Amino acid sequence: MSETFLGMPATAPPGVGHLRGTEPFPVAARQALGDAQLRRNLGHATATIRNKSAAVIGEVPDWPRLREAGRAIKTDTMARLPELLEKLETAVTGAGGTVHWATDAVAANRIVTDLVRAAGADRVMKVKSMATQEIGLNEALTDAGIEPVETDLAELIVQLGEDRPSHILVPAIHRNRAEIREIFLRAMPGVDPGLTDEPAALAAAARRHLRETFLSTRVAVSGANFAVADTGTLAVVESEGNGRMCLTLPETLITVMGIEKVVPTWRDLEVFLQLLPRASTGERMNPYTSMWTGVTPGDGPQSFHLVLLDNGRSAVLADPVGRQALHCIRCSACLNVCPVYERTGGHAYGSVYPGPIGAVLSPQLTGVADNASLPYASSLCGACYDACPVMIDIPSILVHLRAQAPHSRTEATAMAAAAYTMDHPARYAAAQRAAKLSRLAGRRGRGLPPPLSGWSDSRDLPDPPARTFRQWWAGR
Ligand code: SF4
Repeated sequence: MSETFLGMPATAPPGVGHLRGTEPFPVAARQALGDAQLRRNLGHATATIRNKSAAVIGEVPDWPRLREAGRAIKTDTMARLPELLEKLETAVTGAGGTVHWATDAVAANRIVTDLVRAAGADRVMKVKSMATQEIGLNEALTDAGIEPVETDLAELIVQLGEDRPSHILVPAIHRNRAEIREIFLRAMPGVDPGLTDEPAALAAAARRHLRETFLSTRVAVSGANFAVADTGTLAVVESEGNGRMCLTLPETLITVMGIEKVVPTWRDLEVFLQLLPRASTGERMNPYTSMWTGVTPGDGPQSFHLVLLDNGRSAVLADPVGRQALHCIRCSACLNVCPVYERTGGHAYGSVYPGPIGAVLSPQLTGVADNASLPYASSLCGACYDACPVMIDIPSILVHLRAQAPHSRTEATAMAAAAYTMDHPARYAAAQRAAKLSRLAGRRGRGLPPPLSGWSDSRDLPDPPARTFRQWWAGR
């Protein structure tokens, strides 16, 4: 019998969830670049978050040391992930919860669907969660006749608009106020036809719509930002309070969490609760930080299930360079500083994880061949590395993954020719003379001839220097 178990380095299965796009990044990006409204929305939103974040980070004198601490804790966690997960399971079970191990998206969707059915519910309310988007839980629940209701305002906008999230933190960042008003008028039951596009009016409309859901739905599904292995405590941070309602009001709470979200102790959590709000929303602390440990009789959900999701994470962990991607705390700072993301938006990445972190995480979860264009969705400027609160060296992972991506025959031939030339001093010197001759022949600025012209179509080909290093050296 051939079976995959959690912890085995298998990649996320195709055909389920949202890790693979339907088009390569360059094709999808070209379409997105044609949308001037999208670029305006993104430019305004990312600049606002960037400035807010920079101001509050500037208030913390030991920010560099906090980042170092975040990186060190994550490195230690990944080095002993199996041990910490078993410790977490013991603590959650001891506190009255139940832990389920899901090897992939299919298993996780089945576990959650079965739990909702066992609770006798045909509707669930959801706290914003990247993990459940990753596995396509909403589609799986809908197929099973269970209605999922997103309660995060931005997720609700995405759901009502039959849209896809385009940012980790602000899933509807590609929508402006007028577009949101139009979606509410079209898809929100019972909405006031006189609704304006004032933010307060839009939030009030969403609040009225969600209130009935909060009070009448018996099962909630959440993600988790962190889980403390020592005590079995789960943590969700959010800005609206809708998450707090979902986490406290229902009878049954099901949390789907990627296995990398575990932290060893409360002391470690303290570091991330300082890093995350400043790097993400530009706040000094998260408006709502909800924590719960198992089940407390007479207080909150009386049935708690934790689904630990692998879905390719063990494969990422097995790569000593790529595993840094599992350190991510989903703050989205790398998206907000990325010149590529700012122009294309999130949909072009084809995955629920867009931007620089998506360019290194999605290909590793799916296997690089299934997302081969994403490691190239970067100028390698390094802004993401500078912004990341846990110091993930995204540019190095991008280069590492580019080496694993399938390469065209033209590129392979060009690289083989370059290797042949550079492998011998005489051939290399001859190539330099040829380059200089072409410069003297007036080819400067015209780019490379086909089939290499694709490379220089969008790049300036540097002029060969008047004197090579070898000539300079020989002249000394
Ligand atoms: S990679 Fe770093 S900056 Fe990007 S979302 Fe993750 S933690 Fe934030």
